[in-house]
Amino acid sequence: MKLFKPFFIFFIFFSSLLSAQTEYVILISFDGFRWDYPNRGLTPNLDFIEKEGVKALSLQPCFPSKTFPNHYSIITGLYPQNHGIIFNSFKNPYSGKEYRISDTASVRNSSWYLGEAFWETAKRQGIKTASYFWPGSEMDLSYRRPDYFEKYDHKRPYDQRIKGVIDWLKLPYNQRPHFITAYFDATDSYGHKFGTGTDETNFAISTLDSVVGKLISELKSISLLDSTNLIIVSDHGMSNVSSERTINIKDIIKDSGCRFYDSGPTMMIQPPESKLEEIFGILKKNENHFKVYKREDIPAHLNFSKNPFILELFLLAEPGWSLISSDKNEEYNNRQSGGNHGYDNHFIEMHGIFYAIGPSFKKGYKTGTVQNIDIYPLLCAILDVTGRQNIDGKIERVEFLLNEK
Ligand SMILES: [Zn+2]
Repeated sequence: MKLFKPFFIFFIFFSSLLSAQTEYVILISFDGFRWDYPNRGLTPNLDFIEKEGVKALSLQPCFPSKTFPNHYSIITGLYPQNHGIIFNSFKNPYSGKEYRISDTASVRNSSWYLGEAFWETAKRQGIKTASYFWPGSEMDLSYRRPDYFEKYDHKRPYDQRIKGVIDWLKLPYNQRPHFITAYFDATDSYGHKFGTGTDETNFAISTLDSVVGKLISELKSISLLDSTNLIIVSDHGMSNVSSERTINIKDIIKDSGCRFYDSGPTMMIQPPESKLEEIFGILKKNENHFKVYKREDIPAHLNFSKNPFILELFLLAEPGWSLISSDKNEEYNNRQSGGNHGYDNHFIEMHGIFYAIGPSFKKGYKTGTVQNIDIYPLLCAILDVTGRQNIDGKIERVEFLLNEK
């Protein structure tokens, strides 16, 4: 019996390795694809997944319902207050350093990113990973980013992105990634520019749906469709905004000396210390289609007050309203048109989509709203990876979407 023990252990180890690596996961993000866009009759490929896989009523983003905070929540299972990317652009008030999505150096600086992205978790447990664009995938520490990644190029044609994903799957088996992310922006770009109910946004919806169709047929052509789990999500929804629903906070706080950060659905203000109470009082008295909070009083349901980089005063607009801090009122007002997002994540128009199909998922299964922080533990369950324990996501809220192993 003693002789066989090492073989037995080897067998267990080897078979668990095999079972862990037979399936693939492709996680796709359609930026700004609102939860109800599939109701427009423009999405035959998503409709196919609804029939053959899993569809959630909606995918609830974290607050603020912005792009970078939510992509990083999806991939880490953490609320933005805990993973550190609290807005698309923000400042560390202690060091004075700024994070801006338009500044490549700050986007690649790993010190902003707390928690652990799924690709890091998976890599450490022997799974090859790849990313055809995802916030956080270009970090400057190689062990914190995927094995394969592409530097963000907004204009990269969608066919080329799909080809890149398929080419990774054609690599020799020992080099081939089993977890891949991909990102497509059209519904966000068109939704911002033209608003949600327009022909242009409908065109973007169709374009992204055809990405799903293309990917499915390519996976079929390389005989990997049956072993691939395709998960399609979006980071947030979209609401129409208007210059008539714009509030210039500088018109309310006549006195300057305040630092303003961000605009649109949310705003942060750092008043001079001696004026904190006075400015808070003025804003509170003038609350009209927005709310003002002291940092420590930001409502608990937003899970947002704990990050140290949030400034003293926090303003949140009602859905469809925009906050600005402009000296040139009219010129700036005119820019508030089309769509925007970033509002309270409990507002349904901020919700995105969740679709999934593949060997791990139930077939023809519909569920209610899923929270995007639960995707990280879901990925761990599919690929038999032990996830980080100190996360906000919970496998118990989503494991019923999976087939029993
Ligand atoms: Zn987005």
